[in-house]
Amino acid sequence: SAPAIEVRGLRRVFRVRQGLFASPREVVAVDDVSFSVPAGSVLGVVGESGCGKSTLARLILGLLEPSAGDVLVDGQRLGGMDRRARARLIQPVFQDPFASLNPKRRIRDIVAMPLIAQGDVARADIDRRVGEALDRVGLSREQGTRFPAQLSGGQRQRVAIARALVLRPRIVVCDEPTSALDVSVQAQILNLLAELRRDLGLTYLFISHNLAVVEHIASEVAVMYLGRIVERSESERLFAAPRHPYTRALLASVLTPEPGLGVPDVGLGDTMPDPANIPPGCRFHPRCPVAIAKCSTEAPRPTADAAGLVECHLA
Ligand code: SF4
Ligand code: MG
Repeated sequence: SAPAIEVRGLRRVFRVRQGLFASPREVVAVDDVSFSVPAGSVLGVVGESGCGKSTLARLILGLLEPSAGDVLVDGQRLGGMDRRARARLIQPVFQDPFASLNPKRRIRDIVAMPLIAQGDVARADIDRRVGEALDRVGLSREQGTRFPAQLSGGQRQRVAIARALVLRPRIVVCDEPTSALDVSVQAQILNLLAELRRDLGLTYLFISHNLAVVEHIASEVAVMYLGRIVERSESERLFAAPRHPYTRALLASVLTPEPGLGVPDVGLGDTMPDPANIPPGCRFHPRCPVAIAKCSTEAPRPTADAAGLVECHLA
């Protein structure tokens, strides 16, 4: 059967102006990315802020147009797909549920929204399916009558998940779904997502800067650096035997976590990479502890084998 998600040569360029009189510059947020996600599995995407992972999520959700390349969802090209059909296939869960929930609406109406947007759904069906979605995420009918401000952060994220499930999609794109939550609540939401995937046969694209979170849920992991996937591998293998120097640095940074920060301490003692200023050669070379001469002039090509993919001259 077709993979749930297939991405081919995906590229997205933004034109940004960095000062009032500066001429616009091109920022390549996603640069020739290809991968596929088998149905029922979880691809974790990790990397620092600004690496392009949220842009990737928005391209796969059809919220952004690619500059080049294709996204196929369930074997169908996303470009040109009707919005309502797309919503039945793929749904998002974003980081900050408070920002994405209308404060003036009751929970049950928020969860009903994707169904109502489909048009032509009977009131009784809406009520029944909203009730089912609330059940699935562990919220009561009574909680469905409340407003977002009356719920905790974890409950609000359950609402966002119920809203994503109400159309019974096959694929859910989670972009930092637990990053705004307390650590104890994070585990509950992760366990809920894992359980829903098992019970409903869902496929996830799961984006996070937090490697521990990704390790918990992903079957395969892609590591992004300045718009490229620099390593991709089955999850257990990636954590046990990382092959790219950047992956190794990210894993080392997990040993010295900085709670509350959106950006991991990569342990290389420097600042964030700048997507508007991608270094020549290997884009990681200014921070790479094992760089060799040609790294500053020659971009490594991706090498794929049974263990996955890695993009490094030394691999
Ligand atoms: Fe480091 Fe060179 Fe490999 Fe890039 S290609 S990760 S600079 S060793
Ligand atoms: Mg982001």
